[in-house]
Amino acid sequence: VASEAKSSTLRFICKEIDDQGYTSNPQLSSELNISLPTAINYSKQLIDAGLLLKDGKCPSTGGKRADKLIFNPKYKLSLGLDIKQQEITLVAVDFAYQVVREHTFALTFAWSHDYFVQVQRCIEQFVRSLPQDCPLNTCLGVSVPGTVNHDQSFSSYALRLNDKSYDLRELGELTQFQLKLLNDSNAGAIAETRSYKRGSFVYLNLSRTVGSGIVAEGKLLLGINARAGEVGHMTLFAHGRSCYCGRDGCADPYLNEAALLKDEFTSLDNFFANVVAGTPTAVSRFNQYLEALALLINNLNNFCDTNIILGGTIGPFLYLHLDKLNELVNANALYDSKNLILDATVTSAPAAYGAALASRRTLYPGA
Ligand SMILES: [Zn+2]
Repeated sequence: VASEAKSSTLRFICKEIDDQGYTSNPQLSSELNISLPTAINYSKQLIDAGLLLKDGKCPSTGGKRADKLIFNPKYKLSLGLDIKQQEITLVAVDFAYQVVREHTFALTFAWSHDYFVQVQRCIEQFVRSLPQDCPLNTCLGVSVPGTVNHDQSFSSYALRLNDKSYDLRELGELTQFQLKLLNDSNAGAIAETRSYKRGSFVYLNLSRTVGSGIVAEGKLLLGINARAGEVGHMTLFAHGRSCYCGRDGCADPYLNEAALLKDEFTSLDNFFANVVAGTPTAVSRFNQYLEALALLINNLNNFCDTNIILGGTIGPFLYLHLDKLNELVNANALYDSKNLILDATVTSAPAAYGAALASRRTLYPGA
């Protein structure tokens, strides 16, 4: 019990730094209601273990300015791996949350020993390119486009692994990392908690398929079966377009990449260039898309009164047309919903970054 209390205090100190960027011994003493020498003792344990360091002075509160306690960036590097159908992306994040390196490898997914060997080689190559003065976290965060169960088994429509539950034990054995699997939408949501801290929002993952990650007051909502956020299969139009799940009218076929690309447009870049150029097929298709999206956003807002972040592969393009989307949302909003849509702050490899953050979390005392 004593050591549990100790690690919960040490974890509290880390979370203080998460929330405010830094803390100090006088602040910890007052917030934890402990004496200053006890606070100093706790923070010294984290400094000795390498997690924290002293850096500069806190703003003056009248008396002597206290030492700032911050995360030691060189404590450990945490890796995140995002697995997609056609590529994998690796991100390395230092203990102060900075991206040290990010790289995408073209690699077509297959459920085979060969594929895992190739992933392992990519990881090795990536690790060799990292600064050598910083040890690696032994946990690797892995984001997959699918449902990840509480026992870390998963299934994925996008990877065509939807007939049963699968696990990545073989990859763990090959790489010698302890794997931490998470759904890609949840990983994208975790990535945004870095900026929005204790905020509440739905991170919409608008990609080849549609999903979301729900964050309530800074915490990811997983649900009873870890399936929370399946907004892609909420019915948007009764008897509407057929969805891959076997039902009709789901949000997914209205808001996924195929809804925009269909036949004549080769990529999202190409499609949105045509929207900007005023190509009639692109413009009318995009208007339909925005209407469906506005409907979904209003449903989500009525349901949980949260902000929305537009993520996935389509998200970044939508921010260039935000006025139009806001107009459509407001036209049907139950309450005034200006500023409902928040900026996405992690636009480069959000799922891989979120996976790296999930692995970083395992470094906290008692995690
Ligand atoms: Zn569906």
